[in-house]
Amino acid sequence: MASHDLVIIGAGPGGYTAAIRAAQLGLNVACIEQEPALGGTCLRIGCIPSKAMLESSELFREAKEKFSQHGIVLPEVKLDLATMLRRKEQTVGILTKGVDSLFKKNKITRYLGRGRITAPGRVLVEGEKEKIELEAKYILIATGSKSSPLPGVELDGDRIGTSTEALSYPEVPGHLVVIGAGYIGLELGSVWRRLGAKVTVLEYLNRILPGMDDETAAEAKKIFERQGLEFRLGAKVTGAKVRGKQCVVEAAGAEPLVCDRVLLAVGRVPNTDGLGLESVGIKLDEKRRIPISGNFATSAPGVFAIGDVIGGAMLAHKAEEEAVACVEHLVTGHGHVNYDAIPGVVYTQPEIGSVGKTEEQLKADKVEYRKGVFPMMANSRARTIAQTEGKIKVLADAKTDRILGVHIIAAHAGDLINEAAVAINFGASSEDLARSCHAHPTLGEALREAALAVDKRTINF
Ligand code: NAD
Repeated sequence: MASHDLVIIGAGPGGYTAAIRAAQLGLNVACIEQEPALGGTCLRIGCIPSKAMLESSELFREAKEKFSQHGIVLPEVKLDLATMLRRKEQTVGILTKGVDSLFKKNKITRYLGRGRITAPGRVLVEGEKEKIELEAKYILIATGSKSSPLPGVELDGDRIGTSTEALSYPEVPGHLVVIGAGYIGLELGSVWRRLGAKVTVLEYLNRILPGMDDETAAEAKKIFERQGLEFRLGAKVTGAKVRGKQCVVEAAGAEPLVCDRVLLAVGRVPNTDGLGLESVGIKLDEKRRIPISGNFATSAPGVFAIGDVIGGAMLAHKAEEEAVACVEHLVTGHGHVNYDAIPGVVYTQPEIGSVGKTEEQLKADKVEYRKGVFPMMANSRARTIAQTEGKIKVLADAKTDRILGVHIIAAHAGDLINEAAVAINFGASSEDLARSCHAHPTLGEALREAALAVDKRTINF
């Protein structure tokens, strides 16, 4: 029986980051992954392939609709979807192989198969051909999540599918119906809209992007409508079926929709089945998540859990933070995650980036705040790149001026938001941000101007 200090189940951003950090700290680490490629949902069928498709489809849209503004005249812009899909797969391949090399470099033992806890300190790897029993001082569960099913929606793995299918449609659907106006629905809905599909988004709530700052989400909806996405809000989908070559989607109180393809994107559920948790007495909560206490410890001694299986935002970088904190705490006794400084990004065009509290949360918590807003149309760099949609909002404590939240809808918001996350992590005030020199001309100057606006002293607006 092979013996390791730490056995990790799952090689997504949580699991592989934990493996590398633990190896750096001197542990003998093993990581069990059932898929031949490392990297988990994020690298294989999530963040990375979707961002590759978002980039390609946006370039296609720009070539068709925006190049002429720059004086670039193309005779005809044609789509070669097969090449676009191949480029996406190549990108995924390079990055997943990169994780393999990192494992080798850090001398992490990799097991191919499903990991199942069989007793305290024992994990069984069930591969296609053989079973291997491992002895572990510590076990870390990082098995992530999967698309949530919806009663009545009959997934056929082709026409009615999840994000996995929507990353690889072999042709542009004539009409795509997206169920759910969250991260996945808006990103992949945008991809296929840009490539020419009619896209209808059905959303149960009366708004898009639940949990995001209301004002920012409302502005996003207007922009996406201008791009041609159709929204039906307050539409609770009750069923979707394949009928011949088409699909029929039913929603309470609305006419059924007939379409070519359906993307179900109503959230994700933790992968906590078949892990043998009962063998060590771990009981799941009502959402099938693994309850944890301090330092990601489960109720079973020596068993830890991080990422999508424990609740909180289902984000790759949140899992990575937890991975480092959990492993460092195990080895050094210290490790911490600042959940107030974890950004969220929707990679639409413009992108939406958010960190810290929303105005709605501050109002609910009765926190007095001041607000500074700066429109991207007043930012010179945004003008030069012809991407003037959106704005930046900084929320600061009314008494201390400490930054409590930043919400950005703008080109490259996903990069801009990191500065705000650093500021929040360092406990910065809006004045700290406002007094920090920002290079000119950059989009980041708009963040500084929004910080200046908290004290009503923007320069360029
Ligand atoms: P989500 O939670 O972001 O959005 C799901 C949406 O579906 C919600 O608006 C919800 O109200 C709606 N909905 C639920 N039931 C419905 C019904 N019966 N009819 C109509 N609408 C219904 O979920 P998602 O978009 O599936 O994403 C899943 C997870 O993956 C999220 O937690 C997200 O954090 C993560 N993710 C992140 C990124 C990113 O960081 N850019 C990208 C993709 C996914």
